[in-house]
Amino acid sequence: MKTIKELISESLTEVAASREINREESIRRAYKACPELKDIDDQILNVRNNRFIAVIDKDERLIKRFDIAEEELQAKRDKIILRNNIDPEFDVIKNICDKCGDTGFTKGSDGTLKVCSCRKRELETCYENSGMADFTSYKMKNYRDDYLGDASGRKKIKNELLKVLLGLSESDEKSSLWIYSAAPQSGKTFLSVCVCKTAINLGKSAYYGKCEDLAVIGTDTLDDIKRIDFLVLDDFADSVTMTNNIGSILNSILEIRAASKLPTVLVTPFPKTELVNKCDMRISGKLSSARLISKEGR
Ligand SMILES: [Zn+2]
Repeated sequence: MKTIKELISESLTEVAASREINREESIRRAYKACPELKDIDDQILNVRNNRFIAVIDKDERLIKRFDIAEEELQAKRDKIILRNNIDPEFDVIKNICDKCGDTGFTKGSDGTLKVCSCRKRELETCYENSGMADFTSYKMKNYRDDYLGDASGRKKIKNELLKVLLGLSESDEKSSLWIYSAAPQSGKTFLSVCVCKTAINLGKSAYYGKCEDLAVIGTDTLDDIKRIDFLVLDDFADSVTMTNNIGSILNSILEIRAASKLPTVLVTPFPKTELVNKCDMRISGKLSSARLISKEGR
């Protein structure tokens, strides 16, 4: 599972190649519009090559002559560029995205890193790799605070989840495991996916998955989700922990994540007390110290 930072880093070679192609194209156009410019650039190149040989020969007199020749050619070149209205930087390598200088990340006024808008493709790929292939249309901007008439409650939950993801709710002695418990059909999945996407947008590694899918997820992904920055497991229920070895898989994920204080959110329609009572024993021990995102639901 590649993180957004890895995906962007891998694309840098491609971006560098694009910059080079753009430069070559710009030079080709300038030379076509003004053959005189190409001619003088060829002459400058020739003078430089000869000067190089003179340097090897340690022929000071000749070196001086070539230096003067280049100066004269450069002056001529400047005039040609001006007269023909050519961009003086036509042969300079330029960034493809001025917003991020082709790094793929921009920094907000508060210093937070964010994936640049020029990396939509990498973002989409990362969302897909991070368990969200089925939710391409889920976007935070479409999360309505006033859905079902509970504007302040929904906004509070959203902000709480964002705080967990940003590590703003962390304190050393408390658990990094969270329970987001709310009524069915209240938009839990939508919000969970959007918060995971936000994490990736902020350059973090994140994963969204259904709890029951832990039984079918590949071992590589399982290893990855033990160490990513932010994990959300949806449709959590005591019954799920009793089937398909999920109790054991989940237990090892939670143990490793807890040791590194990595935030994990279990999303469920059931109240915490009920889950603590009924879950697989290893899980219920961890749940009892877990923190709550929202009012208990159902
Ligand atoms: Zn950019």
